[in-house]
Amino acid sequence: MGKIHSIETFGTVDGPGVRFVVFFQGCPMRCQYCHNPDTWDLADGQDMTADEILDKMERNLVFYESGGITATGGEPMLQLDFLTELFSKAKAKGIHTCLDTSGILFPDEQNKDALAKIERLLWQTDLVLLDIKHIDEEECKKLTGHSNRPALQFARYLERMHKPVWIRHVVVPGITLKEKPLTELGRFLRTLSNMEKLEVLPYHSLGKVKYENLGMEYALKDTPQATKEEAAQAERMIRAAME
Ligand code: SF4
Repeated sequence: MGKIHSIETFGTVDGPGVRFVVFFQGCPMRCQYCHNPDTWDLADGQDMTADEILDKMERNLVFYESGGITATGGEPMLQLDFLTELFSKAKAKGIHTCLDTSGILFPDEQNKDALAKIERLLWQTDLVLLDIKHIDEEECKKLTGHSNRPALQFARYLERMHKPVWIRHVVVPGITLKEKPLTELGRFLRTLSNMEKLEVLPYHSLGKVKYENLGMEYALKDTPQATKEEAAQAERMIRAAME
């Protein structure tokens, strides 16, 4: 059984083509700009089996010929065994699998048992969308409550595995929308030969109302949204550092 927050049957932004997007419940991160705080608590969500999820998808399988299934959240790797089962069953049916993750749960590489589990998941994963929250360690802790080290180590590991990756980065005015971290991010990405795509996304505050409804403080209430132009400018900075 997996703990599932919700399912989107016609996703067009989380991987290639039209996708069946499964939002996993539970996330250890606390990104200040998270627009899904209702996915954080693993105790919430609906119990579903992998077969139930795939049966639902198969009702309209023809929609997904150009795409496939995406696991997002929340943090799908929090339910690693279930995620691996879901992707194994999807692959057995010839469905393209995409994992959208922050990489926070990538284990210490000395932990061989944990690493073997990640490897098993990656055998069943066609594409990883890896969200790098902040390239600066201390700033990442302020923004998400966690170190950026697991995500960066995961990026390097995926590179060694030759696993296709799309990197995502949200630009937040005054936090990530600065020349120095964007340049550092570009220098890091330059080392990833497996990166197929870079998506630089402007921060938006659409999730704010969820925090109000949940009676939670919204940390970025005084932070302006980023414009599309600012995101495009940030992407140019990153790409310039990748040359
Ligand atoms: S990793 Fe994603 S779901 Fe988790 S807190 Fe950050 S934005 Fe929200």
